[in-house]
Amino acid sequence: MQIVKDHGPITGESIAEKLNLTRATLRPDLAILTMAGYLEARPRVGYFYTGKTGSQLLADKIKKIKVEDYQSIPVVVNENVSVYDAIVTMFLEDVGTLFVVDDEALLAGVLSRKDLLRASIGKQELTTIPVNIIMTRMPNVAVCYKDDPLIEVAERLIEKQIDAMPVVRKTEKGYEVIGRITKTNMTKAFVALAKDDLL
Ligand code: ADP
Repeated sequence: MQIVKDHGPITGESIAEKLNLTRATLRPDLAILTMAGYLEARPRVGYFYTGKTGSQLLADKIKKIKVEDYQSIPVVVNENVSVYDAIVTMFLEDVGTLFVVDDEALLAGVLSRKDLLRASIGKQELTTIPVNIIMTRMPNVAVCYKDDPLIEVAERLIEKQIDAMPVVRKTEKGYEVIGRITKTNMTKAFVALAKDDLL
């Protein structure tokens, strides 16, 4: 690193010479420093010192994490199921948010724990009211895509004060639900980052 700082841009060959090593011996070290972002390699020019600090490199790493690296399997219910059945599904599937789809399996809405609690403290008959009466419906549902940076989805969860977002695929007819991103997925990414064990 010091040699590159002092003499960069410098070829791998010249660095090896200064260290009395062969190019082959040095290659893995240069590969690691380049991959970690401390050095940059330009073809036919040589190695540069990027000048990036540890926290800048960490930020770069975080921005590269995609939704698909951490998404979970979505749990969906049809918009005509009863509030009672949605509550049972939420317990059986052990999730905090259900995604609601129409008869064509396209996203119609979202049901959170509080949506179901609110309906339960009313005087309605839970086995007869369909979830589409109480859900947050399209187009008010915040969605994300598998290629979105995970950090942008985290920011939107905070901004909108919600726990989860469906991962969708856009079709001509509407959105197909292909995954689920929740605060738990964010926690997992955070822990993986600390263990330097990103997917
Ligand atoms: P809880 O209500 O259990 O605390 P949330 O904070 O996720 O869970 O939900 C708050 C409200 O926001 C609920 O009315 C819910 O329907 C709605 N909501 C949840 N997820 C989304 C989303 N992705 N887009 C829009 N609204 C949502």
